[in-house]
Amino acid sequence: MAIYVNKNGGFEQAEPVARECPHCGAHAQLLPVAVPSFAELARTQPKNVGLVFRCAACGEPRFVRAAVRSIGAERVELAPHLVEIERARERFQFAYLPASVEQLLRETLDCYTAGTHNAFASMCRRTVRAALTLIDEDAARRWRDTVADVLRLAEIDAGTTDTIVEVLFGDHGEPPTIGPDQSAVLIEVVKDLFYQRYVRTTKLRAALKMRRFFASESNVTPIDRGRRELA
Ligand SMILES: [Zn+2]
Repeated sequence: MAIYVNKNGGFEQAEPVARECPHCGAHAQLLPVAVPSFAELARTQPKNVGLVFRCAACGEPRFVRAAVRSIGAERVELAPHLVEIERARERFQFAYLPASVEQLLRETLDCYTAGTHNAFASMCRRTVRAALTLIDEDAARRWRDTVADVLRLAEIDAGTTDTIVEVLFGDHGEPPTIGPDQSAVLIEVVKDLFYQRYVRTTKLRAALKMRRFFASESNVTPIDRGRRELA
């Protein structure tokens, strides 16, 4: 899986790299566009290098960093682990949300993408509060139960569970300080919560309405047909 920059100018990957694209969502190959020259690497002897690929599906640039493993007389070997500099944006079916909640959830997910964990935690609490003000008074208890269920299903430890519940529903003071590990759990919990309460509910209601419509149609039609035949 190693990557080489050869002295004769060739850029060589032992295997093509394919990844999910943050722009188009396709699992597509990364094609090299701009790579460092052998002469430049031999002269500057860097520990890491930057490379630019493009997504084979949509053509958008993908910026990558790789560690330099060795600089030989004929070729430079780069570590196969490519670190993408641009983090993938979190996806959500925002169209199902009320406008005020949509804007806050978008910014919440952007905070996560930016790796600003505590800004992310604060925005999670704000977005949940904004959503709850639009629903009945008992919603806070139901949402809390939903979150507790999700955390239990995912077998999240008690400490993290307490932190997540406090971030989302805490009544006193600022949300607790969180790090990358808790942030990773929080993003899944928040997306699941909003999915269950808006996307899933709306889709389920629409599906049931459709079923009932066809059920009532099929009840009426044969009787009508029967009557017509008797007449
Ligand atoms: Zn793409």
